[in-house]
Amino acid sequence: MGNSKPERLIDENGRRIDGRRPDELRPIKIEVGVLDKSDGSAYVEFGGTKVFAAVFGPREAHPKHLALPDRAILNCRYHMTSFSVEERKPLGMTRREVELSKVIREALETVTFLEEFPRASIDVYIEVIQADGGTRTTGLTAASLALADAGIPMADLIAAVAVGKVDGQLVLDLCDVEDKYGEADMPVAMAPRFNSIVLLQLNGRLTPSEFKKGLALAQKGISEIYKLQQEALKKRFSTSKPLEV
Ligand code: ADP
Repeated sequence: MGNSKPERLIDENGRRIDGRRPDELRPIKIEVGVLDKSDGSAYVEFGGTKVFAAVFGPREAHPKHLALPDRAILNCRYHMTSFSVEERKPLGMTRREVELSKVIREALETVTFLEEFPRASIDVYIEVIQADGGTRTTGLTAASLALADAGIPMADLIAAVAVGKVDGQLVLDLCDVEDKYGEADMPVAMAPRFNSIVLLQLNGRLTPSEFKKGLALAQKGISEIYKLQQEALKKRFSTSKPLEV
């Protein structure tokens, strides 16, 4: 199996491999509070990319000597299940997963008020259930919702999406085939309330002018994602059981 290189990634009508226009996101599903055992959780789907995020904490840091006197430590683990991809994926954490865990943690740290919980730890788990491009951006989008669901004070949510260049055209929200066979892939994460970028990576080549246009395209996608995140959070808190007194 595996996706072989298609002859073209954009057809004569300007449609992409999955029928989308260049500036169109994949169908998105967001649900908050989906798991029972964690303090906060979220499920986010961008087309074929499906991700769960779960948060524990703030809780006592373990082992204790890792605790910080002035703030909580944020632990983050991004992991792809072995059935999330077609290829044989090693069971343990790969170097790619270790690196993505780090950049996702650093992005989450920019919006989380860790200083409110000295000596504690907040543990974020991201599990990619199915991968079809954009797993780090979907993971970040889900993780920020899981943190909010856990009641962790945050300056903002994080909304993220990748943009890229395929067949010479800038496109929003790459799927796996576009990521693999396109000319560039640029994941972008933002704290939309502050209009600030908290993660930006680029694989491939873009001219400075394409970079600017690509960033604007990412911002457009991010504002759509941010709205869906806020709706999902509202839904979560409007349907929770009333407090028993
Ligand atoms: P992202 O998922 O954030 O776009 P990459 O650019 O590293 O991260 O990966 C792009 C896509 O490549 C993934 O979403 C997934 O569909 C595929 N992929 C990543 N790692 C593997 C792997 N070990 N085996 C098969 N496919 C993979």
